[in-house]
Amino acid sequence: MTLQVRNDVSLKPFNSFGVDVRARLFAQAHSDDDVREALAYAQQHDVQLLIIGGGSNLLLTGDIDALVVRMSTLGIRILHEDCTHALVEAEAGEPWHPFVQDMLARGIAGLENLSLIPGTVGAAPMQNIGAYGVEIKDVFHSLTAMDRETGQLREFSLEDCAFGYRDSVFKHDAGRWLILRVRFRLSYSANLKLDYGPVRQRLDELGIKQPTPMDVSRAICAIRSEKLPDPAKLGNAGSFFKNPLVSAERAASLKITHPSLVSYPQADGRAKLAAGWLIEQAGWKGFRDGDAGVHRLQSLVLVNYGAASGADLLKLARAIQADIVEKFGVELEMEPNLY
Ligand code: FAD
Ligand code: NAP
Repeated sequence: MTLQVRNDVSLKPFNSFGVDVRARLFAQAHSDDDVREALAYAQQHDVQLLIIGGGSNLLLTGDIDALVVRMSTLGIRILHEDCTHALVEAEAGEPWHPFVQDMLARGIAGLENLSLIPGTVGAAPMQNIGAYGVEIKDVFHSLTAMDRETGQLREFSLEDCAFGYRDSVFKHDAGRWLILRVRFRLSYSANLKLDYGPVRQRLDELGIKQPTPMDVSRAICAIRSEKLPDPAKLGNAGSFFKNPLVSAERAASLKITHPSLVSYPQADGRAKLAAGWLIEQAGWKGFRDGDAGVHRLQSLVLVNYGAASGADLLKLARAIQADIVEKFGVELEMEPNLY
C-alpha cells in the first residue's frame, strides 16, 4: 500500500480560484498502482472519487464529500522518431507548460501556441485545450485511460476522443475515464500558425522576421502574461465561459443591432461569437461584488480577490448569463467543471 490517504484536507492550494473548501479524503497518485489503489479504496469505503490535475479548470462550490486524487505521475518519453516527426508520450501528472517548454528545447514543434496554459497533461484532452488557433486534437495521437468502473485500461485514438470546441468524450462521460498518459505526434520541422490574434504583430514588433517555434512560444507567453491574471496572484480559472456558437443568420441579425459584434465564421456554417465582447458590452468588465469579480482587462475571466466562495463566483456567473440572454438573446455555457 503506497497511497497516502489523508482526512479533511483544504483544497485551497489545489484549485486556481483559491476557493477554500475541504475534501473529506485526499491523496496524490504517483503511479498507475496508486490510481488502482485509489479506485479500490473508494469502492471499499463507498466514497465517490474525484480526479484532479492542476485544479485550473474547476469551480468548487462546497466541501467535497469524496476521495480527491491529484494526478502526480511524471515522465516524458520519445516513443518513436524519424527525421520529421516524434511520437511523444507524457504521464498525466506532468505540468503542461513545462512539458511544452521541454519539447521546444529539444527542437520539437507543434505545441508552441499552447504555451503557458496551466494544468496537467492528463487534463488537456478533457476539454481539448486550445489557444491561438491550435487545439490538442491537432497534435494528438492517442491516450491510455483507466475505466473507473472496471479498472481496465483502454487506448483512445483521435476518433475515439470525439474532440470538439472545448469538448471531448471525457467531458460527457464525466468521471468514468481516468487519463493515465497521452501521446502526441509532434514535428521536427515547424509548421507555424501565426494568423490568430496578435501573434504575428507581436513578432513583428520584436523584429523577428523568420520565427522559430520557441520565438512563437515566447511571444504568446508575453501576450498572455500582459492580459491574463496569474492565478498565483489573483484566483481565476481562465475563460469562465465558452464562446457561443450560433447560426450564421442569428449572427447576421445581431450584427444589425450591434454593428461592432465580434464573430468568426466556422467551417460548419455557424458563427462563433466572442463571449468576452458580449460581457464587456453588457457592462460587466471590472465588476466586483465582495471578493468575486470580472477581471478588469479580460471580461471572460472571473476572479477571486481573496475570500470569494465557489457559491459567490457561481452567483456572479449566473447573473452574467441571465444578463447576456436578456441583452443579446444568447446563452453562455460555463467552461470550468463544477463540483
Ligand atoms: P483540473 O482543473 O484539475 O481538472 C479539470 C477537469 O479534468 C476536471 O473535471 C477533472 O476531474 C478532470 N481531470 C483532470 N485530470 C484528469 C485525468 N488525469 N483523468 C481524467 N480526468 C481528469 N484552457 C484552454 O483550453 N486554453 C487556454 O488558453 C487556457 N488558458 C488558461 C489560463 C488561465 C490563467 C487559467 C487559470 C486556465 C486556463 N485554461 C485554458 C483552463 C485550464 O488551464 C485547462 O483546461 C487545463 O487543461 C486544466 O488542467 P488541470 O490539470 O488544471 O485540470
Ligand atoms: P483574443 O485574442 O482577445 O480573442 C478573443 C476571442 O476571439 C477569443 O476567444 C478567440 O476565440 C476569438 N478569436 C480571435 N482571433 C480569432 C481568429 N482569427 N479566428 C477565430 N477566432 C478568433 O482572446 P484572448 O482571451 O486573449 O485569448 C487568446 C487565446 O487563448 C484564445 O484562443 C483563447 O481561447 C485562449 N485562452 C483560453 C482560456 C481558457 O481558459 N479557455 C484562457 C485564456 C486564453 P477562441 O477562444 O475560440 O480561440
